[in-house]
Amino acid sequence: MEVLYKSTRSNSEAVPASKAILKGLADDGGLFVPDHIPALDVSLQDLSKMSYKEVAYEVMKLFLTDFTEEELKKCIDGAYDEKFDTEAIAPLTEIGNTYYLELYHGATIAFKDMALSILPHLLTTSAKKNKIENEIVILTATSGDTGKAALAGFADVPGTKIIVFYPKNGVSPIQEKQMVTQKGDNTHVVGIHGNFDDAQTGVKNMFHNPELAKELNAKGFQFSSANSINIGRLVPQIVYYVYAYARLLAEEKIADKEMINVVVPTGNFGNILAAFYAKNMGVPIAKLVCASNENKVLFDFFQSGTYDRNRDFILTSSPSMDILISSNLERLIYRIAGNDSEKNAELMKNLSEGGVYTITDEMKTELKDFVGEYASEEECFKKIRTLYEEYGYVIDTHTAVASAGYDTYVKQSQDQTKAVIASTASPYKFTRSVMKAIDEKYDKMEDFALVDELSKLSNTSVPNAIEEIRTAPVLHDTVCEKDEMEQVVKNFLGI
Ligand SMILES: *Cc1c(COP(=O)(O)O)cnc(C)c1O
Repeated sequence: MEVLYKSTRSNSEAVPASKAILKGLADDGGLFVPDHIPALDVSLQDLSKMSYKEVAYEVMKLFLTDFTEEELKKCIDGAYDEKFDTEAIAPLTEIGNTYYLELYHGATIAFKDMALSILPHLLTTSAKKNKIENEIVILTATSGDTGKAALAGFADVPGTKIIVFYPKNGVSPIQEKQMVTQKGDNTHVVGIHGNFDDAQTGVKNMFHNPELAKELNAKGFQFSSANSINIGRLVPQIVYYVYAYARLLAEEKIADKEMINVVVPTGNFGNILAAFYAKNMGVPIAKLVCASNENKVLFDFFQSGTYDRNRDFILTSSPSMDILISSNLERLIYRIAGNDSEKNAELMKNLSEGGVYTITDEMKTELKDFVGEYASEEECFKKIRTLYEEYGYVIDTHTAVASAGYDTYVKQSQDQTKAVIASTASPYKFTRSVMKAIDEKYDKMEDFALVDELSKLSNTSVPNAIEEIRTAPVLHDTVCEKDEMEQVVKNFLGI
């Protein structure tokens, strides 16, 4: 059955997946949502005999119904290949009653690779299907992680160029080095004199400039975005929850139809929403545990039914979750409002105007499968240390939020259900915080010395993504003022 995509904010026409992927955001500012969640049409037993790529096909074919089998399989083959350092793509590590689903074996060692390695293929295929002959130019503003994952995903993908803007003095030295050493003839990286908001505003202005769009079109280009609200990023994330369940079955860790809990360290609510979709497709998931760091807007929301972003923004050691507006939550709000776009639009208006909205009691009962938890910095560090001491297993600061949050949940609920914890970044990506959590003495060491120490102590090899940047030459050195961004883009495109 065909799946069409509708906006969360009005009853404008529904579009096929390829159009939703090309557009990213609906014209009314809403997010695209599938008009129904398809049920898996192969059994979990059958899925347990499949590879990651095969599971990916079985899941994604149900959502991207206007893609042919050949098109979709080509996208999947192009994405989940030797860019990943393990054939399992998303391996599970058993620790006690929990299973860490390691989503960090891709090119930039964070879970964003799971979707950003396939998005370029989905996007270029969508362009072809819709007879778009222009070259696609991806514009991205980044505060660190997304930029590198997008660069790695789009590097040397025919028919695309990618331009990433980052705040020159606003990212970590490792993050900057990762970006400015990016290979690929179609990649451009630019530091701007300004902060992340300036970069973001500059990019938005270019997206909404009709004159510029016209100029680009005349030269055979058009802009697109790799933003996390794109359905082309959400759908590939459903795959690994289905895969995780299938692997647990295959390895006889769970019985047929046994329920599991899923725990996700959450920022923009994309990853946990994918788990919710997996549950709705028929994966036996009991609780969806949404773990926040000290920016605990979501925890408070699940407690009270009020989403309130009016609070201080706290810088934590899990920076990819330092977020006060979780964009993808809108998709859940729309759904628990009974797919009522008017009601959702009103709540989102309250959010943008006053920074707060409250859902009805009726909507709140629809959230019964979700549990909100959070973990303090102290709890996260302690969790990293004790996991290392008891099991020799080292997790990163984001995963620690989920793991520590889940401990709190289990203590309070006595729930003994087996749990899958989404492990969203390699500890090597946040080496300093991780090593400091294990022992304060490490704080005195240099970055790369710490990397070698982590390798020794965790008995794992240093990932390629880190090895590479030790010696990689700088390939991008453009720096500009914030009002020069458009000119820089034109220079790159030769227009
Ligand atoms: C982006 C990110 C998250 C948050 O994921 P959302 O889908 O935005 O909720 C968590 N951990 C890491 C390491 C990330 O990069």
